[in-house]
Amino acid sequence: MTKKDILPTWGRILRGYRPLLSIEITRECPLRCPGCYAYAPEHLGTAGPLRELSDLKGEALIEGVLAVVRRFRPVHLSIVGGEPLVRFRELNVLLPIFNRMGLEVQLVTSAVRPIPIAWRDLSNLHLCVSIDGLQPEHDRRRAPATYDRILRHIVGHRVIVHCTITRQQLTRPGYLQEFAAFWSEQPEVRKIWFSLYTPQAGERTEERLSPQDRAKAIAELVQVREVFPKVELTNEMLEGFLHPVESPEECIFAQVTTCLSADLKTLITPCQLGGRPVCKECGCLASAGLTGIGRHKLGGLVQLSNVLAASERIGRFITHVA
Ligand code: SF4
Ligand code: SF4
Repeated sequence: MTKKDILPTWGRILRGYRPLLSIEITRECPLRCPGCYAYAPEHLGTAGPLRELSDLKGEALIEGVLAVVRRFRPVHLSIVGGEPLVRFRELNVLLPIFNRMGLEVQLVTSAVRPIPIAWRDLSNLHLCVSIDGLQPEHDRRRAPATYDRILRHIVGHRVIVHCTITRQQLTRPGYLQEFAAFWSEQPEVRKIWFSLYTPQAGERTEERLSPQDRAKAIAELVQVREVFPKVELTNEMLEGFLHPVESPEECIFAQVTTCLSADLKTLITPCQLGGRPVCKECGCLASAGLTGIGRHKLGGLVQLSNVLAASERIGRFITHVA
């Protein structure tokens, strides 16, 4: 999402709406990735772990998702999981409907199973394939969604590759460069995104980046974007990586997104990550991009983020008293 996309949504924010919607379309996933936020025990707070939440299938899921979209009227819908391809039959019905509605949809997948070829004709669909590093590391972390399978399953599609940088990827200089080189060569890949691993409060894992790791990763990304045009890393995203916000209240992305879990009722807070994420170490690309955009000064005077925060407060007030 860019500055151009934010401004038209202002009216909705004023009316108390959140213009971005994210849905965990299923609780199921055949993978068990280390560092997966969706299956962290604290992800849904008191609503319990995602795998134990009731989810929907078939007609009930199709009708449920359509009802949610009609209710929230988002300008952008993110479909995540679990693994969305587990529900490919329902998505075969839903995605063409969203396309006819003109709704931009991003579907985040591990590409563990074939992506239906009919989806390539959906102009509003953005397929985002999660790949955790080069083949040896990725295959260890994300089997059965191995490199071999991904390469087979994306044939005929145009996809965005999304890599979350963890500490393990920074032990060898030039790792991110090698990653960008490999995926840049694949004709199916139209863009490459990098996020930085965002930890939960109190987390001590192999994935968590130290401040030095974070600085090293950002420095390498600055070089990588110069060499590989498919790597999308705007100055706004860089600004957000370099200077993350302190809390969810300051996070534009969290403030403008409604995140629903697999029962289509449970709200995920404070953002898609759920639980208690450490905003000061946030590496979410979307949040970084919006944070960077929010620091732009309108007319050289007031920050866009302050205007958005004020608009949202006014919107909530209006909704409350109306
Ligand atoms: S594919 Fe995604 S949802 Fe499934 S375990 Fe891995 S990170 Fe979690
Ligand atoms: S997206 Fe990042 S900055 Fe925003 S609330 Fe979540 S962890 Fe915090």
